[in-house]
Amino acid sequence: MPDGGDAPLVVADLKKRYGRQEVVRGVSFRIARGECFALLGPNGAGKTTTLRCCLGLAGAASGHISLCGFEVPAAARAARMRVGVVPQMDNLDPDFTVAENLLVFGRYFGLSAAEVRARTPALLEFAGLEGKAAAPIQSLSGGMKRRLTLARALVNDPEFLVLDEPTTGLDPQARHLIWDRLKRLVQQGRTLLLTTHFMDEAERLADRLAVMDHGRIIGEGSPRAMIAQHVEAQVVEVYGEWNGSGVSAWAEQRAGAFAARAEVSGETAFCYVNDARPLLAHLAGEPGLRYLHRPANLEDVFLKLTGRELRD
Ligand code: ADP
Repeated sequence: MPDGGDAPLVVADLKKRYGRQEVVRGVSFRIARGECFALLGPNGAGKTTTLRCCLGLAGAASGHISLCGFEVPAAARAARMRVGVVPQMDNLDPDFTVAENLLVFGRYFGLSAAEVRARTPALLEFAGLEGKAAAPIQSLSGGMKRRLTLARALVNDPEFLVLDEPTTGLDPQARHLIWDRLKRLVQQGRTLLLTTHFMDEAERLADRLAVMDHGRIIGEGSPRAMIAQHVEAQVVEVYGEWNGSGVSAWAEQRAGAFAARAEVSGETAFCYVNDARPLLAHLAGEPGLRYLHRPANLEDVFLKLTGRELRD
């Protein structure tokens, strides 16, 4: 269990601007040892900038960062020796084989070729890439490349891992495999910080999460606590025809009688309720309307906190 004592990452009142735009506006959070912490937020929220500041790859305007016991940026290099990073874009070297990529990366950490070779079989086994040591990078699938990037991030046996959208672009099978490996890393006692756009990913993996928007943290807690705190327990998604028009007419005129909150997005009215029975009874008498009744989830929290408008 996380002990919280010697937190591997402490961020206090972090601020960062690019030109005149303040993109991180006073962010504070703490990640306990052995914890998986997820940073969520729409595009442009400031997640990647926050990660880059934590790693000392971007200079902060102000604030305090301690990573694995080292002050950042002053001792960022020493801190990074204890950290593994899985970047958003795979940046494996296409001119090298799988094993050579591990070797080159190990050098950054001052590891000898013999040390990396000794670690390679276990890293490839972890990544499900046994027998691929001599394979060229171009021959790997997207999922294999991601797993190799994860294995590469482990070459220095880091206590802390930063993963920027680790499963973006992967098919469901490949995502499940990455999730399984990330859970194993937490079971080994490592600490994880990840960003993701997938709420199911955050809900499955994260012990705690923070939602960021416009450079600030606007919600923080365990997935379950966030759901309990921010949204009603159940959701009824209503769609179809009502009195010759779309569902928005029904939402405007009738949903308020049954739902604490109803939001129309596209062709669907999302009705948030603590007791769905009166609404379901009403819908039973509306043959043009169809519905999906489900428990509230993290996506509902995310949309409530950050809104439904598109971000580019
Ligand atoms: P997120 O990871 O949440 O999508 P980012 O941290 O990448 O958000 O970006 C936050 C804001 O900072 C965006 O408006 C983005 O355009 C801007 N930004 C990020 N990196 C730079 C940079 N190197 N130069 C100028 N603006 C940047």
